[in-house]
Amino acid sequence: MMLRIKRVPTVVSNYQREEAEEGGCGRNCLRSCCLPGAKLPLYAFKKASKPVSEQSPLVSDDSELGIDFLDSLVLGEWEERMQRGLFRYDVTACETKVIPGKYGFIAQLNEGRHLKKRPTEFRVDKVLQPFDESKFNFTKVGQEEVLFQFGASEDNDVHFIPYAPIDVDASPSVVAINVSPIEYGHVLLIPRIFECLPQRIDRESFLLALHMAEEAGNPYFRLGYNSLGAFATINHLHFQAYYLATPFPIERAPSKKITTTSGGVKISYILNYPVRGLVFEGGDGLKDLSDVVSDACICLQENNIPYNVLIADSGKRVFLFPQCYAEKQALGEVSPELLDTQVNPAVWEISGHMVLKRREDYEGASEENAWRLLAEVSLSEERLEEVKELILQAMSSCCVGEVAAMAPAEESVSSGPAHEDADESIKGSHPAMVPV
Ligand SMILES: [Zn+2]
Repeated sequence: MMLRIKRVPTVVSNYQREEAEEGGCGRNCLRSCCLPGAKLPLYAFKKASKPVSEQSPLVSDDSELGIDFLDSLVLGEWEERMQRGLFRYDVTACETKVIPGKYGFIAQLNEGRHLKKRPTEFRVDKVLQPFDESKFNFTKVGQEEVLFQFGASEDNDVHFIPYAPIDVDASPSVVAINVSPIEYGHVLLIPRIFECLPQRIDRESFLLALHMAEEAGNPYFRLGYNSLGAFATINHLHFQAYYLATPFPIERAPSKKITTTSGGVKISYILNYPVRGLVFEGGDGLKDLSDVVSDACICLQENNIPYNVLIADSGKRVFLFPQCYAEKQALGEVSPELLDTQVNPAVWEISGHMVLKRREDYEGASEENAWRLLAEVSLSEERLEEVKELILQAMSSCCVGEVAAMAPAEESVSSGPAHEDADESIKGSHPAMVPV
């Protein structure tokens, strides 16, 4: 049986609706028809990362660029695209509020995001699917939607070149706007865009995303990732990112340590939160953290378990949520009331930023409602335990020596807001898609 759900796809590019067009392009895209001679700004970051504990200030003293240069670049270019009218609606006019209660869920009323689109069928039971050139992909966006190229410098310093040629063979990564933003500065990071990679995490791409979080150096700038089957709608490798000037509820959740890798990466359970998951932090360098998280993601992909990732704290902390909402939806196990809201619980919603489409849901938004929705996303406690074991096993087989040196689990619970009644609401969750 093939599991599918119907949903309204998000339009992330102004060219997405014209997919069927063929021939004489004339829309200034990123393919061979329009690319010759094209230039885009280039931001090159310093590759050698300092240990996480010494990361601040984020750009070294010998750089000619200020420490908040990337931050200003993203926002400056993004606002310029807003003035040019490239977005489908004005996200700054969307109403937003913090839902009263102890968790601080954030509700946004976003009526424009899903207008004028018909629901489309998405296959949700395959996390890895091959890249399909005939479908929309980011090489088809207009060059005006691309803000800059983003990559490591070759001389271990930070550089910005306002008009850099686009070297297709060098496989640049780019940052583009999302024309259906859910917050200020909503952009997409597309690793090695011309390689047309499918939506799947690999070590190199994940490290790039962590570098972007580190370079921006702004705790309100987070990156997120949705796998196929966990509400990604475009099968072309991309991360999302935006600014939200308030903590996400997930960032305030307490955690309980499971283990520490030999590279110093601490792996913990997330506690007292409606979606169960793991949190990764620390490490001797950015690459240690990146490798551990990417190996966990690769393990989930290979076991066909859909998941979402949030990169927080300027790249110092990463949340990983295996999820099963789309599968339940396809099996008809989600209540009609939840389905009626048409909320797709992807990384932002799971992290506590609820993007609501109907005014009635916004007006009536409560902690209880947010919790009820998110609890449907979560794996059961037993299933998360199995998934965690899969991840630890995968790590021990791929990095011999690393897990052998893992410290034994300690019963240490880190500080965070205490929510004593939290566990009651999440009992009885459904097992995930793939039996072990
Ligand atoms: Zn073209």
